Amino acid sequence: MTLPLPLPVVPQPSLPIAGSADRFPIRRIYCVGRNYVDHIREMKEGDERDPPFFFQKPSDAIVEDGGVVAYPADTEDFQFEIELVVALGAGGRDLTKAQALDAVFGYAVGLDLTRRDQQRDMRAKMLPWERGKAFDASAPCGAIVPVSAIGHPAKGSITLDVDGAPRQSGDIAHMIWNVPEIIANLSASYALAPGDLIMTGTPAGVGPVRPGETMHGRVEGVGTITITVAPCEA
Ligand code: MN
Repeated sequence: MTLPLPLPVVPQPSLPIAGSADRFPIRRIYCVGRNYVDHIREMKEGDERDPPFFFQKPSDAIVEDGGVVAYPADTEDFQFEIELVVALGAGGRDLTKAQALDAVFGYAVGLDLTRRDQQRDMRAKMLPWERGKAFDASAPCGAIVPVSAIGHPAKGSITLDVDGAPRQSGDIAHMIWNVPEIIANLSASYALAPGDLIMTGTPAGVGPVRPGETMHGRVEGVGTITITVAPCEA
C-alpha cells in the first residue's frame, strides 16, 4: 500500500508569549543535566564541578500550562523536575558569556518530566538517555515572558508542589552554571538559533507523580506552571 501525497503538514510547536497575541515558535529543546549541587547529591552522581552537559527533548514534547499529560508508557517511576527555561530569540556559534544574554528573548517555567527508572537503567548501561528523558509530552512549559517585561532573573525561589504539598524548593541563584555560562557552553557545541529553549536544571526534591495528581511549579519573577497527570482509566 502507498500512502497518498501530500502527506499531512507537521504542526510547528509553539508557546504563548505573555502579554502578546503572538506565539513563540519552538525549534529545539536543550536541557542541562546536573546544575544544582543539592540535586547532584540526591542523585549520587557526578562531580559537582564537572562541566555542564546537555541532552535534548523533541520539540513536539511541549505541553502548555494547564495541560493534562497521560501517565507515560514504559515506566513505573514517572518524576517531576521544576526548571527555569530560557527562550532564545537570536542564535549563533561560540557566543561569549558577555554576548549570551543578548540572544535571550524571554524566560518561562518548565517541567523536565522524566521516566526515572529508564534514565537510571540507561545510565547504568552507559546508553543514551532518550528513553528516560525524550518521550511524548515530557516537556511542559508555561508562557514565554519577554525580557522586556522581567529582565534577566538571576535569583529567586524555584518551587514545586504536588497536590498542594511542597516537594521541590531552591533558588535559581544556586545554579552551578548560570544562564550566560550555559549559553556560551552550549554554543560551543551547537549553532543556536531563534526558537531554541534551554531547560536549565532542577534543584533537590525530585520525586514521583501519580495518576490524578497535579504539579504546580513557580519561579519567582517569572511565573508558574500547572500540569495534571491524567487519572487512571477505570
Ligand atoms: Mn532536568
